[in-house]
Formats: sequence, structure tokens, C-alpha cells
Amino acid sequence: MNRILIVGAGHAGGSAAALLHQYGHTGPITLIGDEPYWPYQRPPLSKAWLKGEAGEDELQLRPPSFYEEREIAVRRSASIVAIDREAKTVRLASGEQVPYDSLILATGARARLLPIPGATLGGVLALRTAADAEALKARLGPGRRLLVVGGGYIGLEAAASARALGAQVTVVEREPRLLARVAGEALSGFFHAYHVQRGVRFVLGASVAALEGEDGQVRAALLDHGERLPCDVALIGVGAIPNQELAQAAGLPCQDGVIVDGHARTADPAIYAIGDVTRRPLPLYGRDFRLESVPSALEQAKQAAASLTRRPPPAPEVPWFWSDQYDLKLQIAGLPFDVDRLVVRGDPSSIRFAVFHLNGQVIQAVEAVNAPAEFMGGRLLIGARKPVMIEKLADPTVSMKEVAA
Ligand code: FAD
Ligand code: NAP
Repeated sequence: MNRILIVGAGHAGGSAAALLHQYGHTGPITLIGDEPYWPYQRPPLSKAWLKGEAGEDELQLRPPSFYEEREIAVRRSASIVAIDREAKTVRLASGEQVPYDSLILATGARARLLPIPGATLGGVLALRTAADAEALKARLGPGRRLLVVGGGYIGLEAAASARALGAQVTVVEREPRLLARVAGEALSGFFHAYHVQRGVRFVLGASVAALEGEDGQVRAALLDHGERLPCDVALIGVGAIPNQELAQAAGLPCQDGVIVDGHARTADPAIYAIGDVTRRPLPLYGRDFRLESVPSALEQAKQAAASLTRRPPPAPEVPWFWSDQYDLKLQIAGLPFDVDRLVVRGDPSSIRFAVFHLNGQVIQAVEAVNAPAEFMGGRLLIGARKPVMIEKLADPTVSMKEVAA
């Protein structure tokens, strides 16, 4: 009997438990997470849920009865502090030891903190957990002044949601452009202009040197070039750090993420790792990478569950991402490695267009705004590594089907 223990009850861990059952694992499955919630999804926390358009129930990956009915033991508010690989046990913060035959690490990532004066003032928030989102939502409303540090996905999605709630928003970003880690320049420029039109102020190429407060509450941010920005709440969205310390302390190889193979296996045959905490091979691009996304967490949950139930592994996916801001649906497929050419298809002013990143005639990535056909077609072409005719790709009157023909 193979006792499978999953550490971390987030998107990856919750999905792995369900998939193991679906793939026919008959031994005990235990899911241990340090948050007080049943496994839930984070994407709505900066979007529909923050705007009040989605309820608590819509956050849960599955209803609690799902786990009960399948005898998947879910332990919440329980933190695992050590792994004993020789004894094949984990230790909880309470001191309790839990044995395993196979272990899946799904500890995710945490919000990076800003090591600056004032970072612990009231109203200085991160956005990673449902509790973080509750705290942020409680401080937003008409006329409230939100300062966002970081112009990545968190910063921009929160900015759009805060505008919908009537808050005033200023975003400070260290890079000279927005979404620098995840998108090309053309898209950065488009999102910048779109947010500005909707009343968001940006300060680019600047860092927050200190946060200032009154009565323990944040009241202003002092920028490195001397500007002072008054605020009622400060959201720090400056990236995520993998929760790899457990694995590291157990002697598993880590390098900005727990290193795994294409079956989600670590260097220890009894231990798998999945989700944001991993650095994994991307066969399509011939390199290892740490992806921070739901589709990646799901793909690795499938890899681990398939390997543990001796099923064929899932076919490697083209990585993909999405973001919703205002009436824009951004969908990205692939990663822009080794790119020497850009093709814009459609007119950005129509708010329906796509930017293709190519190596020669081979599409490496596509960024599609309100353009699902370009996203889907691009994703297929990226996976197929099929050269395309640039003239056809650039012409939105030529269908993506024809581009692929
Ligand atoms: P997590 O979901 O972070 O889960 C890990 C869990 O493990 C956490 O509950 C953590 O507390 C727990 N844990 C850690 N250490 C221990 C321990 N020692 N003992 C017990 N438990 C432990 N991705 C998209 O693709 N699209 C989106 O639109 C999108 N929007 C997002 C919006 C927000 C606000 C955030 C924060 C993220 C968003 N993401 C989005 C990213 C996505 O949520 C993550 O990629 C995904 O949650 C990764 O799943 P995971 O299970 O690896 O990690
Ligand atoms: P992110 O995408 O890494 O963006 C953080 C941004 O903040 C970067 O551009 C970074 O610039 C900037 N920054 C860093 N330090 C700064 C400073 N001191 N002052 C000003 N700017 C600074 O991370 P995130 O937006 O915080 O997101 C956190 C996690 O949630 C990620 O895993 C992300 O993928 C996930 N998430 C995903 C989605 C989605 O997929 N739609 C939505 C929300 C959240 P540098 O490059 O210079 O460091």
C-alpha cells in the first residue's frame, strides 16, 4: 500500500490529490496545508473576488464533500517543518510525525517582502492568500488612495479592480516598463496606456525607499528620487519567492526552485515536487525554468499523479498564462526565448490584437488581447514548431487556420 502525503494544499496540491484518486490510486492520500482553508484558487483574489463579483464558494477548487467522499484526508492549519528522508516521515510544527511512502511537495511560493523602513506599518499589504485579499478589500473603496509597488500581474490586476471599486491608484515600478518579467514591450506600452486612460497614475523607473506612517498606519511612500506619495493603503506586489526551504533542508537539490524532471520527480525517488516551488524542464525550449502559473501547477500535478499510478505521462504542454484587467482578457502562450522578430496582428486601438514573438519563422510565444483565435492558433503552432509565412500571420483578414495550413 502506497501512502501518499502531499505537503501544501494549494492549487497544485489540491489538484494532485484529486487526480491521484481519479487515476485509480487506492492507498491513503493525505493533504496537509498550513492555511485554514480548503484548497482554493488564487486567480480571483486580484480580479472577480476583489471586485465583489465572486463569492467565497467560487474560490474553492472543490467542495469539502469532494475530499470526504473520496477519503482524501485534508488537514488544514498544519505546517510541516521538516522531512526525514531516511525514516520517510515529516514533522509538523506540533511535533507530530506523519509517515509516507511517497511525498509530493506542493509548497508554492510566497510574496516577496520589501526590506525598507515602514514595511511593517498597518495597511502595508501583500496579496498571496485569501486572508491577504480580505485585508486589502476591507481597505478599498471610493476615494481611498491605493499605492501599489510593482507593475507586474499582481500590481496591474489589483489596480484595475481597485479602480472598479472607486479607489485612486498610483503604481510605482522599478523597471522602465510594466509587466517586464512576463510580457514584451509592445504589450507593456498598451497596458500602460489603457490603465492611464482609466485613471491610474504610474511612476516608472522608481523604487520606494521608505513607507511613512501616523499612529502605526501607512500614510505615504517616499520614492528613491525624493517624491512623496500620500496613500491610505500600500500593496507590495514585487514578485514571488519559492517555498523551497523544507526541500533544501532535506538535502534535495534546489536552485530558485526545487529541481525536478519531466515527471515531477526530485533527486529522491520517493519525493515529487509540483507547482510554483519547482524548477522544471521545458522540453519545447530546451531549458529549465520556474513557472508561476495555474496551468503549470496542473500539468505537474498530472505528471506526479501519472507517475505514482504508473500511467503514461501527459504530453508536454505549451506553457500558457492569462490575466483579466478591465474589459481586457490577456492570454499568453509560450515563452519568448531566442526571439529575433515580432509580428503584431490586428490593431491595438481596437483592443483586439496579438503580438507574436518568433525565431525566424517559428513562433515562440504569442500575447493575445481579446483575441482567443490568435491565442489558440498560436499555441498549436508553438507546440508544432511549424514555420509560418510572416505576411499571412501579420494579416488579420487571413484566418489563423489558414496561417497554420
Ligand atoms: P500555492 O497556490 O501557493 O499553494 C501552496 C500552499 O502550500 C499554500 O497554501 C502554502 O501556504 C502551503 N505551504 C507552504 N509551505 C507549507 C508547509 N511547510 N506546510 C504546510 N503547507 C505549506 N496564475 C495564473 O495562471 N493565472 C492567474 O490569473 C493568476 N492569478 C493570480 C492572482 C493572485 C492574487 C495570486 C497570488 C496568484 C495568481 N496566479 C495566477 C498564480 C497561481 O495562483 C499560482 O501559480 C498557483 O497558486 C501555484 O499553485 P501551488 O499549489 O504551486 O502554490
Ligand atoms: P512579478 O510578475 O514578478 O512582478 C513584480 C514586479 O515588481 C516586477 O516588475 C519587479 O521588477 C517589480 N519590483 C520589484 N521590486 C520592486 C521595487 N522595490 N520597487 C518597484 N518595483 C519593484 O510578481 P507579482 O506581480 O508580484 O506576482 C506575484 C506572483 O503572483 C507571481 O507568481 C505571479 O505570476 C502571480 N500572479 C499571476 C497572475 C496571473 O498570471 N494573471 C496574477 C497575479 C499574480 P524587477 O523585474 O525589477 O524585479
